[in-house]
Amino acid sequence: MKKIIVAIDGFSSCGKSTMAKELAKKVGYIYVDTGAMYRVVTLYAMRNGMISEADDKKTVDEQCLAQDISDGKITVSFQLNPENNLPMACLNGEVVESEIRTLDVSNNVSNVSALSFVREFLTSQQKAMGKKKGIVMDGRDIGTAVFPKAELKIFLTATPEVRAKRRFDEMMEKGETDVTFEEVLKNVQERDYLDTHRDIAPLKQADDAIVIDNSNLTKDEQNALLLSYFNEAVNK
Ligand code: C5P
Repeated sequence: MKKIIVAIDGFSSCGKSTMAKELAKKVGYIYVDTGAMYRVVTLYAMRNGMISEADDKKTVDEQCLAQDISDGKITVSFQLNPENNLPMACLNGEVVESEIRTLDVSNNVSNVSALSFVREFLTSQQKAMGKKKGIVMDGRDIGTAVFPKAELKIFLTATPEVRAKRRFDEMMEKGETDVTFEEVLKNVQERDYLDTHRDIAPLKQADDAIVIDNSNLTKDEQNALLLSYFNEAVNK
């Protein structure tokens, strides 16, 4: 059967990863969470004191970050978790899967991901990962910038409140109980704004993407819908 590239883009916390992971598992494709890659670079910048905040405005020390990237000091990779076979994000070989999911990283990531040299650094790795096709990649610019020729493009959306509620419930389940729903909603809205308004590769629906609004869909319903689009694209 022919192999294709599946690009899943959409707003923060709308369940792209859950959907993408499920499809990849079902059809035996590689799954890549590009948001995790931007989060890893953000964690590196935070750990190395490259992000400062004054008057609610964040500033990234672009020169230092660009230098460290060009000096090869930041390696972003994935390791398979032997327990569930899911990829775990690594920074210079260290598994940082839970560190990159904190609200602190979420609050900084859109500032880091707006930088052109960060996007170039990660986009080139993402393109290389898709060379052999057979890949499901989720993010913000996969169908527009990384794989504009992807055979199947999905644009996933849901209301900010629904997305914040899902993210908040997830955090509570993981024991991250020191955040409020309002903080999570604020983060979702701020990231929506920054991700759609940045100059380079902003989040936007590709002209040929299929839009799925999953505000009122169960996980099973959305997975079944995606699988039907996948089968259609593979058999085209
Ligand atoms: O998908 P996730 O919410 O983990 O992504 C975190 C952040 O990474 C996004 O808010 C966005 O700023 C950035 N991102 C991006 N391009 C991608 C994937 C994520 O700019 N392809």
